[in-house]
Amino acid sequence: MYDYLIVGAGLFGAVFAHEAVAQGKTCSVIDKRPYITGNVALTPSDGHKDKSEKQKERKRWE
Ligand SMILES: Cc1cc2nc3c(=O)[nH]c(=O)nc-3n(C[C@H](O)[C@H](O)[C@H](O)COP(=O)(O)OP(=O)(O)OC[C@H]3O[C@@H](n4cnc5c(N)ncnc54)[C@H](O)[C@@H]3O)c2cc1C
Repeated sequence: MYDYLIVGAGLFGAVFAHEAVAQGKTCSVIDKRPYITGNVALTPSDGHKDKSEKQKERKRWE
């Protein structure tokens, strides 16, 4: 059993989960997309192969 079920691993969900865990809460974060970070634009240093790959993925969902 978690304290919070967070629907959406975008900026809001990720920050909320981070802050909740910092205060001793437990969270389960789910997302309908196959990756985290939602609509936040990424650079290669974020761990994704490249930005164009994420943009292709984003187009599929728009
Ligand atoms: C094309 C585009 C480019 C942008 N570029 C920039 C930029 O360069 N710089 C910048 O600062 N901001 C940018 N933004 C704005 C930034 O992306 C948003 O401010 C930020 O992503 C909002 O965060 P959020 O968590 O509210 O929503 P989101 O990032 O949209 O996250 C919501 C998450 O919830 C998930 N979700 C939604 N419905 C469900 C459901 N029913 N079940 C499960 N999961 C669900 C989605 O898959 C998503 O992962 C851009 C936005 C867009 C659309």
